[in-house]
Amino acid sequence: MIPVVFALVLVFVVTMVMPVVLFHLLGMGVIKRGRVSSWVCLTFDDGPDPRFTPVFLDVLGEYGARATFFCLGEKVLRYPDLARRICEEGHEIGLHGFDHRHPWADPPWRVVRGISISISAVQRIAGQEPRLYRPPWGFWSLWNWFATQGLHRVLWSLPGKDWLRNATPESIVEHIAKSLKPGDVILLHDGGRYSGITVESLPGLLETFKERGLRTVTVSEMIAATDRVGTFNA
Ligand SMILES: [Zn+2]
Repeated sequence: MIPVVFALVLVFVVTMVMPVVLFHLLGMGVIKRGRVSSWVCLTFDDGPDPRFTPVFLDVLGEYGARATFFCLGEKVLRYPDLARRICEEGHEIGLHGFDHRHPWADPPWRVVRGISISISAVQRIAGQEPRLYRPPWGFWSLWNWFATQGLHRVLWSLPGKDWLRNATPESIVEHIAKSLKPGDVILLHDGGRYSGITVESLPGLLETFKERGLRTVTVSEMIAATDRVGTFNA
């Protein structure tokens, strides 16, 4: 009995705990920020969502800003027009898994299949080759790490905290303005129950970037430019 328990604990540590420590906490092989002094990245997770994503796109369009949408494969399939619109308007789609189940909650084959279906959905529907992956809640396992070989694994350097119960558009702008540094990858959401608040913060955020001379670019643009100038996450 004891060897079985020991073996199960060992498997759990190697396949679940170690990836979180190495990739999430220590940031090994994961991009959290770029190094271009006049650029920042806005990233929006959990969409596309017909209630909010169109408004995000309208506001970004007014400011001529580009962003990265970490979409769920299941929602790309459900709202193909939105996924297409994201790409047509010059933004980037990154993958955020298939249906936002916790990466530890699914068997390996389901995680791998979900990521593969999501990649094909973005290729087929939006006509864009996905280059980025951010796991739900930023949680890694051995399975989502292996299933995303060939993609850039991206987390964030500045969480917008739009998910907090007492978040307001003003609190989001204030928090980000206080902590903002050039090269930041900012985490926000266009597909959460609170995303109506997030989108109201968007004009204030874009004005803040403008005042500081920061241009918003997609994560792939930041990666390509950072590759030329030096190390990530510095
Ligand atoms: Zn998410």
